[in-house]
Amino acid sequence: MRNNKSLHLLFDSNEISQKIAELAKEINDLYEEKDLLLIGVLKGAFVFMADLIRKIKIPLEIGFVQLSSYQRSTTSSGNVRIVNDIRTPIQFKHILIVEDIIDTGLTMRFLMNHIKKKNPASINICTLTNKPSRREVEVPITFSGFKVPNKFIVGYGIDYKEKYRNLPAIYYVEE
Ligand code: 5GP
Repeated sequence: MRNNKSLHLLFDSNEISQKIAELAKEINDLYEEKDLLLIGVLKGAFVFMADLIRKIKIPLEIGFVQLSSYQRSTTSSGNVRIVNDIRTPIQFKHILIVEDIIDTGLTMRFLMNHIKKKNPASINICTLTNKPSRREVEVPITFSGFKVPNKFIVGYGIDYKEKYRNLPAIYYVEE
């Protein structure tokens, strides 16, 4: 393996697709008859978002936002900025933010405040993975996939220095 990193499996592709089916069912129930707009956080959430929307049965729209916080390292700077803003209109829609991982919570707090200013009907969060042991600010997560240990994870859209996003399973990296 390049960079002398070793990968340890956390969740294989079957576990991931089962979890996504469960999350989609909960989402179907909550948003029935509502104007639903899913906002995926790029780049990490794009694989999760693609699989999740295909399991949701109710009508929906999608949008994306690209944020940057991690500056090519494995620790959070907490310094969040918008790289590409949401282009889909948000006003009066029910927003579901789709994220790959919530760690300190700083990125999500920033994004929620940003979306609130655009006057949505509601905002909820759906995250594939969650690292509660690292939380610095409280984040209200409505749909949470896997709880992960305090390790750096990759795969299934989630990167290390832009690599590993194509892995179909989720691993943690040991340096
Ligand atoms: P937070 O602001 O909650 O600390 O961090 C959220 C962002 O940090 C995620 O969207 C993700 O980009 C990055 N991040 C946090 N933990 C990990 C991790 O274990 N692996 C990777 N690849 N990114 C992480």
